[in-house]
Amino acid sequence: MLTAAILAFGLQAPASTPAPPRTRLVLLGTRGGPRVEAGGGRRNASTLVVVNDTPYVVDCGYGTSLQLLAAGVPLNRLRYLFVTHHHSDHDLELGLLPYNGWVAGLGTPVDAYGPPGTEAMLRAFFDYMKIDIDTRVTDEGRTDLRRLVTAHDIAAPGVVLKNDEVAVRAARVRHPQIEHALAYRLDTRDRSIVISGDTAYSPELVELARGADVLVHEVLYLPGVDRLAARYPDAARLREHLVASHTTPEEVGKVAAAAKVKTLVLSHFVPGDDPSITDEQWSAGVRKHFDGTVIVGRDLMEIP
Ligand SMILES: [Zn+2]
Ligand SMILES: [Zn+2]
Repeated sequence: MLTAAILAFGLQAPASTPAPPRTRLVLLGTRGGPRVEAGGGRRNASTLVVVNDTPYVVDCGYGTSLQLLAAGVPLNRLRYLFVTHHHSDHDLELGLLPYNGWVAGLGTPVDAYGPPGTEAMLRAFFDYMKIDIDTRVTDEGRTDLRRLVTAHDIAAPGVVLKNDEVAVRAARVRHPQIEHALAYRLDTRDRSIVISGDTAYSPELVELARGADVLVHEVLYLPGVDRLAARYPDAARLREHLVASHTTPEEVGKVAAAAKVKTLVLSHFVPGDDPSITDEQWSAGVRKHFDGTVIVGRDLMEIP
């Protein structure tokens, strides 16, 4: 109400009312695909949006808990988790992330959203960890983790969450052979952020991203995929799958241009483990079609 009055009368906010912090966007993991490796390579997929100090985590591939800590977010502050689709590079820590929050002292609710199957997977994780969870509840007096986490299966596109600080919308995108693949859009007071998930060129994503401040989009670099495929016995089939279910830089540029977003951030790089591909190679195709700001993402990069 106060804000409305201030806007209506053109008044300055009283000095005692600090402005809410700006919505932050941090790439936690930018690798496409499930393989993990030691060393300084890209980590598996995850993106963090912080609204008013509340973390909203989109995707939780292997290593997300550690990347959240590296980004300065204590795990016991976990609140909202969104999974785009059930490929393991996006959901391997669906149960583990709330669990790691719980053993770090989390005693407040966590809401986990994802395509159909999310609820069943969380239930299966809790069964898998039943002995440990039961023991810690008894021995350590913790609130039962199973009562803290609520799973929400998203069966249809549209608004999936609306609270005082954010509206989150989901769109179905095209990622064969996964039937339910989602992109998410978070609209906050000061920023609109869209995360593509994994997708081939999808008109539904253009619609979702229309006019957004930032679009975080996955990307596939064909010459790199050819080198990757050459390492596998069934190379033709792997290449066919990757090309059918992901987006080339040129197509990413077309999506960003059609949606008229301000900033495009490349993430979820396929292949994600080829350091010989330069930032210029990742972005050159994009720039043929999109003349806004293009950022080639890196792990733990905060998007200004
Ligand atoms: Zn993926
Ligand atoms: Zn995928």
